[in-house]
Formats: sequence, C-alpha cells, structure tokens
Amino acid sequence: MPALRFVFKEMAKTFSQTIKFILFEKQKGQCAYCKCDLMKEIHRNILPGIDHIIPISQGGNDNLENLCLVCKWCNSVKRNKNKDDFLKYIQPYLEGKVSKKDLREYNLFLKLQKKFKHLL
Ligand SMILES: [Zn+2]
Repeated sequence: MPALRFVFKEMAKTFSQTIKFILFEKQKGQCAYCKCDLMKEIHRNILPGIDHIIPISQGGNDNLENLCLVCKWCNSVKRNKNKDDFLKYIQPYLEGKVSKKDLREYNLFLKLQKKFKHLL
C-alpha cells in the first residue's frame, strides 16, 4: 500500500489539475489579469498557475470563486497584491504604454514623479 502522504499528494495534483481545467474553460484560455493566451505558454511547457484573487493572507479562501488561472509573469509579479491593486499596477501595460519587462521601472518612475512633484 502506498504511503498515505503519496496518495494525498497525487489526489491534490489531480484536484488542482481539475481546477485548472475548469478555470481554463471559464476564462476562455486567457490569463485572468493580462489576458495573454495561456495556450502559448502551455505549448512551451509552462503551466498556468492558480492565483487567489483575494490572497489568503488578506482573508481570501480556496473557493473556486476566489481562484483564477494566471500566466507565469502575472503569477510572479502579483505576489500578495489583491486583484484591484494588481490591475492598477499592470494598468500601463494593459494600456499598451510599456512592455511587461519595463513595467516595474515605469511604475517606479511614476511613484518618484508623484513624490517629487513639488520640485518639478
Ligand atoms: Zn498574465
């Protein structure tokens, strides 16, 4: 008999795959935040991640309504931000002003610009 821990691990894997499949259908194959085509990443063997819309640390739960499928970039950039804060953060990208790569510096620039407005 396989160790119980192994069985649970396998069950969790299947469970998360089922969730991913449901979310993929629901979101029509797009990342929940930046709307990129998740299929392109899947073809490159990069699996989409599951994100908590409201992070657990901010009182979010594991219910399906609080879960969404995200691309690798959003997954690594969002961290503990909640949905609204993250969408605000990636707004310049969504508006086509900057690339994903330059977003961090652009936001830093905006922050500094705001901070030193009185000097300009
Ligand atoms: Zn994304």
